Amino acid sequence: MRFDIMTLFPEFVDGILNESIIGRARKSGAIDVRCHNIRDYSEDKHRRVDDTPYGGGRGMLMAAPPIYNCYRAVIDSQESSGAFSRRVIYMSPAGTLFNQKKAEELAGYDNLIILCGHYEGVDQRIIDEIVDEEISIGDFVLTGGEIPACIVTDSVARLLDGVLSDSECYTEESISSGLLEYPQYTRPFEFHGVSVPDVLISGNHANIDRWRREQALIKTERRRPDLLEQFQKEQ
Ligand code: SAM
Repeated sequence: MRFDIMTLFPEFVDGILNESIIGRARKSGAIDVRCHNIRDYSEDKHRRVDDTPYGGGRGMLMAAPPIYNCYRAVIDSQESSGAFSRRVIYMSPAGTLFNQKKAEELAGYDNLIILCGHYEGVDQRIIDEIVDEEISIGDFVLTGGEIPACIVTDSVARLLDGVLSDSECYTEESISSGLLEYPQYTRPFEFHGVSVPDVLISGNHANIDRWRREQALIKTERRRPDLLEQFQKEQ
């Protein structure tokens, strides 16, 4: 899958997505992540990408032309193929809330083009013309769409073949399973006077599974009763 991230801070995004599992997936070719500097597509002699909003108000808005030019260059750089599916996303606090289900849906595309806003956001006309969907990563406001874009890319990429070593890694974990994950332990057996629960060293896998299931239910009920209700409805 190919991710094209349109941003004013490509080094920032590239740096985050070059580390750890996602960085390895890029190197192995399991995913293709390309960061595009919107400023490179400004036709202004000072490479300006923003301007004051019509009607007044505080702050600056990212102008439509450089974003559109960047978008066209991205599209033109992609090989045309009949089966190629693409989704264009604008990261925005006014978008629909991102969740695991949305990540799974986005993982079905061949290409995600992600637009990162900055300042007070972007000219509405660019959203209307090129964007399929606005996505928010939560009910708070950040200075830019770069961190949200990394969050979407990371959560989608880890669902793709060849990114995680074992698909079990995500099917049993919090949210994906419908519940929060049970507590986990590793060596040493005792830490600051607290031992690992006996059942986990019993070797009885039926008991271990039962214990994990109970713990997941208890944790979800305490922390996310909304998730538990949904989980029980779907059983
Ligand atoms: N004036 C905009 C509004 O009220 O909707 C907020 C602009 S915000 C300061 C600048 C940029 O950060 C946005 O264009 C968006 O790309 C990004 N951003 C901020 N909060 C976000 C969130 N919760 N989810 C996704 N993107 C966000």
